[in-house]
Amino acid sequence: MESSRIYFDYNASSLIRPEAIKSVEKILSSYGNPSSIHKEGRYTRTLIEESRDKIAKSIGTSNQNIIFTSGGTEAIDLALNQNPGRIIINSTEHVAAFESSRGLNAEIDILEVDENGLIKMDLLESLLKKGPSLVVIMYANNETGVIQPIKKISKLVHLYGSILFCDAVQAFGKITFCFDDLGVDLMALSAHKVGGFQGSGALVVSDEMTKLIPKISGGGQEFGIRGGTENLLGIISFGECASILWEDEKENIRLRQLIASLENDLSSMGAHIFGKNVDRLANTSLFSFSNLTADSLLIKLDLAGFSVSSGSACSSGKVTKSHVLKAMNVDENMQKGAIRISLGWASEKKHINHLIGFFKDIFNKPVEE
Ligand code: PLP
Repeated sequence: MESSRIYFDYNASSLIRPEAIKSVEKILSSYGNPSSIHKEGRYTRTLIEESRDKIAKSIGTSNQNIIFTSGGTEAIDLALNQNPGRIIINSTEHVAAFESSRGLNAEIDILEVDENGLIKMDLLESLLKKGPSLVVIMYANNETGVIQPIKKISKLVHLYGSILFCDAVQAFGKITFCFDDLGVDLMALSAHKVGGFQGSGALVVSDEMTKLIPKISGGGQEFGIRGGTENLLGIISFGECASILWEDEKENIRLRQLIASLENDLSSMGAHIFGKNVDRLANTSLFSFSNLTADSLLIKLDLAGFSVSSGSACSSGKVTKSHVLKAMNVDENMQKGAIRISLGWASEKKHINHLIGFFKDIFNKPVEE
């Protein structure tokens, strides 16, 4: 990254961690196909299995429950393929979940959220009464950072004989959890949100999910559930990052303090902070000023050297209205102004101070030293 720029878009892609960069050196001379039985193949197989162990350990499950995929999107697609003919999908899910559900021959019910972005438990219960379903509820939202009570949800889902898929792409590395205790049946993870390389992720599968239906059978890799020669670089970087995530809770506290100081100043300038009354990721803030639109603000921020986003990263690069804020019943004017700041391992207080200075300039207030 150019030193003149300040990166505030970790929820889209984290800055690559030095540990991931070091992993490139580790495999530069490793060319064996991990499915080959010769020495070179056995070596790359060992590297992959070591990564699988590290990821499994970081989320409290066994290594045979980790299936490597090309990222969060593919893990979601594979998870939704396990539906029993009915899907209940939370209205604030990532667009990848909605797109996957559309391609399936399943009855789909949309689960509404309240004004804070939390799913309506009573509505979930009434939908569950309709019959066995695959319930799709993310752990933490990529735009607002709002955290769903996944353990409570999994208990309710199982009470009605349904299965729960949890997209933990944003939660992984930001919330400490134990997969085996959560009661989740299927979970999606992604490497590039935690400092690894793009193009690698995993579907985590509980011991109870014994028969999975693959989408790519190929050469039978990944326990026959996801065929294709493994993405060695992506997987190794993923494992390296997983093994250093949340060695202590200090990082979470640090990021929460940075977000709190940003939100205090933004609120005093009139910003509305979305999801501020509920449990949110420590690194995320989504806010809006009623008199500023996100598209013009994003350009100004970019020219001033700040990399931020208006919510989720969209492949077209255009600013589109957020389905998440719409689901939260946010006023249309406020939806148009939403800006997301997401911090990570290289974020510092001085970066926040620069951003506050930028907004003070916009509102023609003197910049404090
Ligand atoms: N789910 C959530 C909540 C995300 O934020 C993202 C990425 O933006 C994805 C899924 C997709 O993950 P990937 O980019 O690894 O395909």
